[in-house]
Amino acid sequence: MGAGAGRGLRLARTGATFPMETDLAMKPRENGAVLRFAPSPNGFLHIGHAYSALVNQRLARALGGRLLLRIEDLDIGRCRPAYEAAIFEDLQWLGVEWERPVPRQSERLPIYARALETLMESGLAYPCFCTRGDVAAAIAERPNWPRDPDGSPLYPGVCKHMSPQERQRRLASGQNGAVRLDISEAVARLAGPLGWREYGETTAARDVAAEPSAWGDAIIGRRDVPGSYHLAVVIDDCFQGVSDVVRGMDLFAATSLHRLLQELLDFPAPAYRHHRLLIDENGAKLSKSARAKSIRELRAEGLSAADVRGLVGILI
Ligand SMILES: [Zn+2]
Repeated sequence: MGAGAGRGLRLARTGATFPMETDLAMKPRENGAVLRFAPSPNGFLHIGHAYSALVNQRLARALGGRLLLRIEDLDIGRCRPAYEAAIFEDLQWLGVEWERPVPRQSERLPIYARALETLMESGLAYPCFCTRGDVAAAIAERPNWPRDPDGSPLYPGVCKHMSPQERQRRLASGQNGAVRLDISEAVARLAGPLGWREYGETTAARDVAAEPSAWGDAIIGRRDVPGSYHLAVVIDDCFQGVSDVVRGMDLFAATSLHRLLQELLDFPAPAYRHHRLLIDENGAKLSKSARAKSIRELRAEGLSAADVRGLVGILI
């Protein structure tokens, strides 16, 4: 890793320096395992969250490691302080123990902004002024236009070839752009094959080949905040020294993009442990199901923490 001299991180693949003088210094990777549970305070935790938090805790203990918590509140329009307070209360009630202090992504925007600047200066990202409607219009005549693993159409590249003068003119006139990764340029700069070690819920690792191109020119900086889920999660996992990312299978495909960003930023690759998603009796993902109950609803119905842990154990 390029951390070291001074307070910057030198990026081998770009030659740029990525300043690090923020509150949360990059933690050197330790010998022991470091895991994290990273909920978003945009609602109450449901039993799918309980499962993920408890799997993290069980693995942290089995590996003799530490469990960290992180509040992923980049979606400032939907996150509420009351939900954040409820996260702490519900997890504590459930019997989950984590280290303090707990970082909030909303307090770390400058470091995401610096990463975006670095990637843009290195020719790996560009501003995009398109609305969803612009993207839809650009592909309207092409019914078989490819989609990313989340189902969104791949970006058709409208802003990729915009002249520097036009970009400057738009930015100067107050147009707020998103930032997109130039996926073909990013993949072209890889030194070799890209992949990760995947354990699932087992103790046996398998190597997974990453397919970052499936995401196209993904948004790594939102229009409203200088950052995105994909960028922030990669930066924060590195800064918190996370060795094992334990999260749901719904993020398996995104791991290809996360591995690419880690390579571009010269971050070490964590191991990944994507766990199964709880499903209801109709096969719907529990977090999306109307039947998903919040932990506090179950608590209000008189269930004990042991009952909820058992409920999760029964459902998995
Ligand atoms: Zn655009």
